[in-house]
Amino acid sequence: ADALGRVAVGAWIGAFVEKVLAEEPNLTDLDRRSGDGDFGTNMVAALDHVDVPRIRDGYSPATVFESLSDAYLGHAGGTSGALFGVWFRQFYRVAADAPHGLDLKAITAAARAGLDTIQELGGAQPGDKTMIDAIAPAVAALESAASAGKGPADGLADAADAAARGAEATADITARLGRASYIGEAARGVVDPGALVLSWFFAEAAEAARA
Ligand code: ADP
Ligand code: MG
Ligand code: MG
Repeated sequence: ADALGRVAVGAWIGAFVEKVLAEEPNLTDLDRRSGDGDFGTNMVAALDHVDVPRIRDGYSPATVFESLSDAYLGHAGGTSGALFGVWFRQFYRVAADAPHGLDLKAITAAARAGLDTIQELGGAQPGDKTMIDAIAPAVAALESAASAGKGPADGLADAADAAARGAEATADITARLGRASYIGEAARGVVDPGALVLSWFFAEAAEAARA
């Protein structure tokens, strides 16, 4: 399809939420080794407030993204709550303006706005061992796919590959920003949990666009 409508967005975000909830112990462990150990708890605190059946089959795409944004902004502690909240807010804004579904240009615009907003708020650059290390390469991949005229399935597959590589590469960096910076060298070899979650966001998008 040229655009992701209600069913595809429901499958995408429903699968994303279920994945994050299922991986809570692993996310907690990564943040324990590279930060202060509350990342998994912060994710669950937010996502316990979303209605997965309605996300999967009921809400409009705009409401799906709004419910995630509200949950993160309203119920998660930590840096990640605010940053995930504004990320999903940008997808809500774009979806509210796209009654016929999200094409690759719309998804690219949302991801670019999300990246810019997270960088304005958090001040991280690529290489700082944060979620930016997954998002920035994914946005670059989306932008080149969109200008090459690719559809959502191909463009999101490119973005998912780029995000996964970016997240994996965070294991090789010592953090300069965020809680992980207090730990320094000890965090070497540990994947950044925020980057990992963003890589799942793009992986589930690619999966839903392929279906
Ligand atoms: P806290 O660091 O306040 O305990 P969390 O544990 O909930 O917050 O979130 C940590 C995640 O947030 C990290 O894995 C990283 O991806 C992301 N993060 C931390 N600081 C920043 C920042 N300045 N910019 C972007 N992402 C950040
Ligand atoms: Mg933490
Ligand atoms: Mg904390």
